[in-house]
Amino acid sequence: MANHLFDAIRAGATPEAAFIEAAEGRSWTYGDMIRFSGQLAATLSALGVQSGDRVAVQVEKSPEALMLYLACLRAGAVYLPLNPAYTLAELDYFIGDAEPRLVVVDPKSETGVAAIAQARGSAVETLDAPGSGSLLDRAGGAAADFADVERGPDDLAAILYTSGTTGRSKGAMLTHDNLLSNALTLRDHWRFTSADRLIHALPIFHTHGLFVASNVTLLSGASMYLLPKFDADEALRLMQSATVMMGVPTFYVRLVQHAGLTREATARMRLFVSGSAPLLAETHRSFAEKTGHAILERYGMTETNMNTSNPYDGDRIAGTVGFPLPGVSLRVTDPETGAPVPDGETGMIEVKGPNVFKGYWRMPEKTAAEFRTDGFFITGDLGKVDERGYVHIVGRGKDLVISGGYNIYPKEVETEIDGMPGVVESAVIGVPHPDFGEGVTAVVVRAKGSALDEKAVLDGLKDRLARYKQPKRVLFVDDLPRNTMGKVQKNVLREAYADLYRA
Ligand code: ATP
Ligand code: MG
Repeated sequence: MANHLFDAIRAGATPEAAFIEAAEGRSWTYGDMIRFSGQLAATLSALGVQSGDRVAVQVEKSPEALMLYLACLRAGAVYLPLNPAYTLAELDYFIGDAEPRLVVVDPKSETGVAAIAQARGSAVETLDAPGSGSLLDRAGGAAADFADVERGPDDLAAILYTSGTTGRSKGAMLTHDNLLSNALTLRDHWRFTSADRLIHALPIFHTHGLFVASNVTLLSGASMYLLPKFDADEALRLMQSATVMMGVPTFYVRLVQHAGLTREATARMRLFVSGSAPLLAETHRSFAEKTGHAILERYGMTETNMNTSNPYDGDRIAGTVGFPLPGVSLRVTDPETGAPVPDGETGMIEVKGPNVFKGYWRMPEKTAAEFRTDGFFITGDLGKVDERGYVHIVGRGKDLVISGGYNIYPKEVETEIDGMPGVVESAVIGVPHPDFGEGVTAVVVRAKGSALDEKAVLDGLKDRLARYKQPKRVLFVDDLPRNTMGKVQKNVLREAYADLYRA
């Protein structure tokens, strides 16, 4: 029987090679992984999980949780991870939308999902410490020689809900081959081998930590340090014996602020990767200054896996996301007409390739609306390609501020503000304005001790931006609101300042 993704993982696995090292000295080899995921898969099958059934999983990050993902693949199920931070209303929507056969919950952090699942007719199981009657206990008694359920390249492997940065999350349907082809491309592009050891501090309910970090490691026969969450002290300690770290920009911001980040501390590391949100050029610069490492920034999304990466050899340019990965076609089009725009001009990023998902779960109209007739997916991200071919993300289509009839790309204004002394970071949003439709509004985080005020920011922008791009107001906050993936939640800011110009 052929199980497209898991067969590839198994083919490269050496049983005695290390796979996971976790807290308290717990560790798993590849042989352990194959045996245990097989026992878990047998348990899922015994519970009635069949080919194509959704299995929703809302558990804390742990080696066992990762094994459960692999078990779902092997049992032929469609893996559906749920962020432990979701609200009850969100969970009710996801469970109602996905109709999972089984929902696996974590008694350590019961969110109310079990009751929702029961009310909606899904079976509920727990993933918990041995001896508690959870799935782990049952798996312990199962035979290890599970015959994987047959799943072909175009069969669904997972449904992942998007991060909900621009509106309600959508379920992205990802096939076995979407995941396998992208992970193999990244493995080769980033030169992963079985000698690598990854510092894995990302959540595993999201494409970044689940598919990029975990699948790339698995398909290289490499090993990982699995951390429940990022901690700069711990990451620095692990850098003594790791080779690669994958992170979101906030990890790097925290490392740069840490006195322990030095050339010596990172001498053993060969690669630092960043993605999921824009990495500030300032973070890139100061990381390089302190360590000699140029962080490699890449760009992807739930729907497409990874689209672009800065080069492994060659210049990793701050503020860019590099080149389209092998096999990925990328073009930039006029958001209104769909016609390609010349290089250097900003437009809508569209991509096509084996990485691109099958569509949004139970949203055929939405799916049809986001694909061009020639198969390109409209990402919703605005960007441009420079003269050297590097892709720049300029912002989100939905972020565009239209003020007095002019289109303003917030990123352009943010870049100017971020470059001012005394500024840590900024977010520029459009807020309802009686005269202009939307008023350009800057929300700024000041450096500690900085006396920067609204007038100084506005004066500083006068000669640098056309008048219509200049903020009407500048507001100061201690922190920008962010979700778990480190993405700035502009909708939260837009709501908070909705009445700013109305008073
Ligand atoms: P939703 O689609 O529900 O609004 P989301 O787009 O934030 O949420 P994800 O799929 O997790 O959900 O995130 C993908 C998005 O993250 C991309 O479309 C892009 O806007 C952003 N992104 C990812 N990597 C980068 C990067 N390196 N630089 C800038 N933006 C990035
Ligand atoms: Mg999105």
